[in-house]
Amino acid sequence: MNATDLIQLDQQHIWHPYSQVNSPNRPLAVKRAQGVHLELADGSQLIDGMSSWWSAIHGYNHPELNHAVQRQLENMAHVMFGGLTHAPAVELAARLVELSPAALNKVFFCDSGSVAVEVAMKMAIQYWQSQSQGEKHRFLSLLRGYHGDTFAAMSVCDPVTGMHHMFSEVLTQQLFTEAPRCGFDQAWQQEFITDFQQHIEQHHACLAAVILEPIVQGTGGMRMYSPQFLRQVKQLCEKHNVLLIADEIATGFGRTGKMFACEHAAISPDILCLGKALTGGYMSLAATLCTDQVAEVICSGEAGVFMHGPTFMGNPLACAVANKSIELLTHSQWQDNIRRIEGVFKQRLPEFLNLEAVAEVRCLGAIGVVELKQAVNIPQFQQTIVKRGLWLRPFGKLVYSMPPYIISDLQLNTLLDITYHAVSCIKES
Ligand code: PMP
Repeated sequence: MNATDLIQLDQQHIWHPYSQVNSPNRPLAVKRAQGVHLELADGSQLIDGMSSWWSAIHGYNHPELNHAVQRQLENMAHVMFGGLTHAPAVELAARLVELSPAALNKVFFCDSGSVAVEVAMKMAIQYWQSQSQGEKHRFLSLLRGYHGDTFAAMSVCDPVTGMHHMFSEVLTQQLFTEAPRCGFDQAWQQEFITDFQQHIEQHHACLAAVILEPIVQGTGGMRMYSPQFLRQVKQLCEKHNVLLIADEIATGFGRTGKMFACEHAAISPDILCLGKALTGGYMSLAATLCTDQVAEVICSGEAGVFMHGPTFMGNPLACAVANKSIELLTHSQWQDNIRRIEGVFKQRLPEFLNLEAVAEVRCLGAIGVVELKQAVNIPQFQQTIVKRGLWLRPFGKLVYSMPPYIISDLQLNTLLDITYHAVSCIKES
């Protein structure tokens, strides 16, 4: 099919993320992808500054990841996980337990990040039900938080910036505390935790868990906050007998400079959600990890089992590629790579403050953010950068990049040059 027909058919039938079904904004047809580049139907090459939404950390068309999928395919693409098991899933579970914060010892595989959050929330609710404390079924979340698009996940997203406000009437009403006010490196002041402390003191009797994105709040604003905030949250959860769910779907696997963002605060949550980069961006797979204690309590309850079981749970192809992706990461000098990328962001982002449209810049690890004074005209911005060979997808006032870890300094500087040009073209209205 030629590119024109493809786009026409796409526009007739397909819903893209957060879009109209008949959107006038045409998607770009990608023919293939290699390394940090997306190749379009017309042969043009774009540097992918998004790593396909945080996932393609090793770049595209990686021979070892390809090989892992091909080898697994020769044995089996899938078998049900109820009553059956297989080496790719067992090896992956062992790897995740080994890699993740100390106390996490049990792994529940699921399909996507949002489902991993649903599973985490169900675990927390069942944990208290099993102890005849069913009244502990609500969640305390942070404003500016984002945890996915399914119903329980939507209920703990920021009611305004979380993109789900039109569902507020039908969502379970959860509790929200102010977004962390202290930047990652900012000197700590005890008042930064006051609002959280008041909420947990007042509501702990009805709280199953606190849920948050450790250190970096992603879709709700690309905000980086102090590890001290996370440490104090953990202490307050322990003190008030409330579980802590860490959603590391975006931050996991090195993106912030630590394998998991919780390590910045040296804390271990009771429940951890992983996804996105888990398979190196090859296919959808997520995992919800919990402590032995959480698992044992759930299974000692009336139901005796954890009530969840997706059809494609522990898919062998996805597990095989996840094993290889983790192996590639842990056998590489990934910390040096992230530090290198952070170094370029730190050096180059301050230049953007010279531009009229820019309010603030920030970075942590391999995440670089330019916050504008006004919302970006996304189609116009994308047109400018695509012409010059770059792919980014800004949202709201945020132009940001989390490139594949393999991006070279030259490619990263090109990415920043093109971004600078496009931001400089933005006129204040
Ligand atoms: N949690 C966080 C922190 C996320 O960034 C996302 C996805 N952007 C999700 C959950 C949902 O993951 P998925 O899109 O795989 O359902």
